[in-house]
Amino acid sequence: MKVNLNRPIVLCWRRLLLAIVAAFCLVFGAAARAQELNAGVPDPKIASALQDVSADHIRANIEKLVGFRTRLTLSAQDPASIAEGKGIGAAREWIKSEFERYSKDCGGCLEVKTDSFTEAPADRIPQPTQITNVYAVLKGTDPERAKQIVLVTGHYDSRNSDTLDAAGVAPGANDDGSGTAVSLECARVLSKLKFPATIIFLTVAGEEQGLNGSKHFAQMAKQEGWNIAAVLNNDIVGGDKNPQQDASVVRVFSEGVPVAATEAQLKQIRGLGGESDSISREVARYVSEVSRTYSTDVKPLLIFRLDRYLRGGDHYSFNQQGYAAVRFTEYREDFNHQHQNVRTENGIEYGDLPKFVNFDYVAGVARLNAATLASLASAPLAPQNVRVLTKELINDSTLTWQASAGAAGYEVLWRATSSPNWEHAQDARDTTRITLPQSKDNVIFAVRAYDKEGHRSLPAVPLPER
Ligand SMILES: [Zn+2]
Repeated sequence: MKVNLNRPIVLCWRRLLLAIVAAFCLVFGAAARAQELNAGVPDPKIASALQDVSADHIRANIEKLVGFRTRLTLSAQDPASIAEGKGIGAAREWIKSEFERYSKDCGGCLEVKTDSFTEAPADRIPQPTQITNVYAVLKGTDPERAKQIVLVTGHYDSRNSDTLDAAGVAPGANDDGSGTAVSLECARVLSKLKFPATIIFLTVAGEEQGLNGSKHFAQMAKQEGWNIAAVLNNDIVGGDKNPQQDASVVRVFSEGVPVAATEAQLKQIRGLGGESDSISREVARYVSEVSRTYSTDVKPLLIFRLDRYLRGGDHYSFNQQGYAAVRFTEYREDFNHQHQNVRTENGIEYGDLPKFVNFDYVAGVARLNAATLASLASAPLAPQNVRVLTKELINDSTLTWQASAGAAGYEVLWRATSSPNWEHAQDARDTTRITLPQSKDNVIFAVRAYDKEGHRSLPAVPLPER
């Protein structure tokens, strides 16, 4: 009897306990999920293209680049040197022929082009020098969305200890044979697919002389009104085999306050607390989300600064023209293996040789790049004219935006002002206006678009509208 009487109480306690556990899971489970926002569901076509990225191809390409002896921008580019396969001219012709070969394999899907100009004498350019960027365009299939471009780049020039030594050996396996190989490999695997938006696979020269190639290219893009949504610059992604290396991560650098911001924009950034929401930083966050979507082997480690101390890179040329651009660089650089004459001194080996490069790692970085390019090129355009209404003092938040080409719906993202990454996503379906109970004073909002297959656009942070 006693037992029977007690049973309902025991059951009741059990139920209560279960309810508490369930509530705990719901609250903290949801919070945990919110911490791991990703860029939609994996697209099987993209996933299969990533499988196609090959460490062997990358090794062959880096060894080929090293075989040109030097790729210093000031090195030979006369017909005889090109025929002999020595100097930057021969490297340029080979890169062009590789892009053309990939294009042949996809029925001429790539437009292979050069951007060539003569640079006037400057600090690291003793005489007028021809500089040539080589690139391949995979044009988008959708007339409206093809105007949006995503771009991957690496610099194919190299240097040794002396930035003016046009004849000495400068293998440049890691700096930046690795980045050049990433651009080439992305072109090879992604040219087998079709995307609504346009992808450009770029390799530039003149980086070591003063970012000359990328500066010229970015200026040309700006002058011609190209709508480049994201630039992925890969420079030193060889995963140098030093004992402190971490081959599971690649650093992704992004500027905070944009170098191209006007005085009025700087004032607005200060007022709104927008220091960590440049378009470049949104691209960096997107790389993280893509990495989670496709469970990439190499994970991005976001570094919230433009570049490393004392160093610069081609992404900056694009930032200067107002474009979103980030830099990928291995976790731990070995400075004995960069910008050094090949030699052994006191038992230390100097020089940027292929034997220090981890080709599997470069392949991992190439997959992360290819996944990001393919996701962005598949996604609808980011919502335009995103606004948060600030007409009156109220605690909820109303956001509005313009419909974007290719969108099936929209998501509102937000995060605490002190949080580095987007934490929450709320489906807004196919509306272009939503009111949320969160106070705009306490969080940072953004809106992104998605298509029927679940591809996500870059997020757009609202401007206030009074
Ligand atoms: Zn470099």
